[in-house]
Amino acid sequence: MISEVEHIKCLIIGSGPAGYTAAIYAARADMHPVMYTGIVPGGQLTQTTDVDNFPGYPNGVLGTEMMEDLKNQAERFGTSVRFGYITEVDFKGQVHKVVVDGIKTITADTVIIATGATAKWLGLESEQKYNGFGVSACAVCDGFFFRNQEVAIVGAGDTAAEEATYLAKLTSKVHMLVRRDEFRASKAMVNRVLNTPNIEIHYHTETKEILGDGQNVTGVQVLNNKTQEVHVIPITGFFVAIGHKPNTELFVNQLIMDENGYLITKADSTQTNIPGVFACGDVQDHVYRQAITAAGTGCMAALEAERYLAAVHDQLLVS
Ligand code: NDP
Repeated sequence: MISEVEHIKCLIIGSGPAGYTAAIYAARADMHPVMYTGIVPGGQLTQTTDVDNFPGYPNGVLGTEMMEDLKNQAERFGTSVRFGYITEVDFKGQVHKVVVDGIKTITADTVIIATGATAKWLGLESEQKYNGFGVSACAVCDGFFFRNQEVAIVGAGDTAAEEATYLAKLTSKVHMLVRRDEFRASKAMVNRVLNTPNIEIHYHTETKEILGDGQNVTGVQVLNNKTQEVHVIPITGFFVAIGHKPNTELFVNQLIMDENGYLITKADSTQTNIPGVFACGDVQDHVYRQAITAAGTGCMAALEAERYLAAVHDQLLVS
């Protein structure tokens, strides 16, 4: 049953680097932002271990610590950070309406969507067991830890191809596990993989289990689905690159998305097709997907929301 209604100037949905950066800027602009964190407060970075590529942390930082720092910074300027999940949105009327946890209605002058994306996983128990201890879904984030070691990457799309060539520069050898006899990636990307001498492509190959010593990854057991042969490849790093899923189910029939479900924003902007509704971070970026780029678009969203509010205010004065 829906009981309460609260009206706010700026609602931020999602609590990753994009959401918190938007909150810092919106709070400093006196927009009194309210953030609903979602079920994973802090987002994808709380699922990883060390973050070494975010500027400002010369010695690296734990993902969980970095998100706590961002939260403290957003709260220092007055952001109301609330644990809760948005269960319904209605952007079709004069005001933007959302429902929190199925019970509380909020109306907002501006909405900043920063719900992120979720990496797809193979679904193996061993994959979760060693996540952060040799298993990763981000080569750019974690490749550095495997310098001069042998690694494997699963996937055959553009992401896997791009990440395999990235890893090939750092590591001694990359085993690319492709489940069919061909790639899904574009020709140019495939050629890049084929022309990299330290990438070995294993076609018709599925991952059966990630092996480890209880602490770190030591190998991967694979199945050749053509010959049914099972064997072990010794590696210390296992990268999963089988795609991401933007967290946008909530916005179906409300906002314009691309064929993969990413929210579409105007060029050089975070503006969605609905005035006053902005999208930042991985929910609208399938290309870069980095904490720092998410933070950058979070800043853009807050600045654009502020300008939108000022323009609406000016219009009211004129009319
Ligand atoms: P895709 O969905 O394009 O590819 C996913 C790949 O993972 C496929 O090869 C698929 O195999 C494989 N896969 C899926 N599930 C499994 C599984 N359980 N076991 C083994 N393999 C599996 O995702 P991407 O992230 O690669 O790309 C997403 C979009 O982003 C695409 O449109 C892509 O073009 C774009 N992109 C563009 C880039 C660029 O232009 N620089 C860089 C990165 C992405 P199968 O082929 O057999 O289905």
